[in-house]
Amino acid sequence: MTSLDDPYAGTDFYCAVALPNIGALDLVHDGDAVFAYHHTRPYWPVHIVVVPKRHVASLTTLAATDEPLIRELLGVIREVAAAVERDHGSATVVTNLGAYQDSKHLHFHIASGEPAR
Ligand SMILES: [Zn+2]
Repeated sequence: MTSLDDPYAGTDFYCAVALPNIGALDLVHDGDAVFAYHHTRPYWPVHIVVVPKRHVASLTTLAATDEPLIRELLGVIREVAAAVERDHGSATVVTNLGAYQDSKHLHFHIASGEPAR
């Protein structure tokens, strides 16, 4: 099993590393279908990632049959973003697609503060 401390060069960090090591993550939410945690290598001073537990490739591959998952995902995103907005005054919610998406497993970044350079 790949540890959180190992360098990971593959295309699905969440199925390969995060989910098998979920107990080692700094979780902010652990639900039936969705989890959220503080990023292990944060790009922003506040950087939380919201991820479905089953494999979904990206926002644009979600289908109508994924509606229950979409509902849970959006609920967690809303809850985490509200806490970041409350505690830090502002928040960004973003998901990447295509070449912008480093890990080919749907995930949303919720961030606040100036990004690292
Ligand atoms: Zn995956």
